[in-house]
Amino acid sequence: MIEAIFPGLYRIEIPLPGNPLKMLNSYFIRGDGRGLIIDTGFNRRECREAYDAAIRELNIDMRRTDIFITHLHGDHSGLVSYLSAPETKVWGGDYYLQASARGNAGPQWSYFADLIKQSGLSAENITLQDHPGYKFASEPFDRIEVVRNGDRIDVGDYHFQCLETSGHAPDHLCLYEADKKILLCGDHILAKITPNITVWGAPWGIERDFLGEYLDNLKKSAELEIDLLLPGHRAVIRDHRRRIGELLEHHDRRLNNILALIGDTRMNGAQVASQMDWDLTFKTWADFPPAQKIFATGEALAHLTHLTFTGRLQTELRDGVVYYSKKP
Ligand SMILES: [Zn+2]
Ligand SMILES: [Zn+2]
Repeated sequence: MIEAIFPGLYRIEIPLPGNPLKMLNSYFIRGDGRGLIIDTGFNRRECREAYDAAIRELNIDMRRTDIFITHLHGDHSGLVSYLSAPETKVWGGDYYLQASARGNAGPQWSYFADLIKQSGLSAENITLQDHPGYKFASEPFDRIEVVRNGDRIDVGDYHFQCLETSGHAPDHLCLYEADKKILLCGDHILAKITPNITVWGAPWGIERDFLGEYLDNLKKSAELEIDLLLPGHRAVIRDHRRRIGELLEHHDRRLNNILALIGDTRMNGAQVASQMDWDLTFKTWADFPPAQKIFATGEALAHLTHLTFTGRLQTELRDGVVYYSKKP
C-alpha cells in the first residue's frame, strides 16, 4: 500500500512476514533532480516484490534516487544493495557503515558470545545462530556516506537536518524538516509498541549507557516543534510529546520494577529478564523462544546498565557472569 502523506512525500508499506512488527514504513520523497528513499525492508522475497511494485507505481528511477538509512537493523537496511543503482548515494551513520561493510563479522556481533555468557543466558544453550538479525543478515555493503548530527540533506522542497538519536541503535538517525515540522524517526519513537533498547557491548566493562542515551534523546526530541512524526513501523504520530511522555514513563516503571525485583538479592541479566513483566503471550520464561529470550535479556541489560551508570546498582563478576545488586 502506498499513501501520499504530504506533497511529494509517500509512505510505502513493506510487509515483514512472520515478524511481530508486521510491516515497515519506507518513505519516498520526489525531488526536482533526485529523489530520496528512507529505509527499505528486509532482504527477502516479499519485501523485494513490494518494493519493485512501489517503484513501478511511483515511477521511481533509482539512477536518480538516493537512500537514507536510519539504523543498521535489517528491516530498515536490508534492501540497500538490491535497490541501489551505481548512481545511488546511500547515507547512514558510522556504526551502520562498520556493521554493513563487514556483514556478520561486524562490530554488532563481536561482543555477542560475551553477552550470552555474562548475562547468564549461556545456561539456556543460546547461541548467535538464534538471533534473527544474524540469520537473515544482508550481504556486506560498504558504499555508505556517513552523516552526523546537524548534516543537511536537501530533496526538492524538503530541507532535512540529520539528528543523531542513539539509544535503539548506537548511531540511530532521524531526519528533521523544521519548516514543515516533520520528523522521520525510524525506530526512535513508535506508536503502540515500545522500541527495543538493548546493549551493544559485553555487559562487563560496558562503556555506554544506551538506555540513558535513549532517554536523553527522547527528551531532546520532545523539544522539537513537530506536527507529524513519521515512524518506521505502525501509524503516524501527531502528538509526539504525549507519546514521548508515555515512553519515558514506561522506562521509569521498568527501572523501578527491576530495582524491586532485585531487592536485597543479587541477580544476573537473564534472571532479571525471566521475572520482568512482558507484554507477550508466553506463560512462562521456559516458553520464550530463544530469540525472544535474547531480546528480553538485552532489554533487561539496558536497564541494569542504566541503573549501574546512575549509581543505583553495583556489579560483580562471578565465574564469568555479571551480577547486579543494590549499591549500599
Ligand atoms: Zn530497529
Ligand atoms: Zn524497525
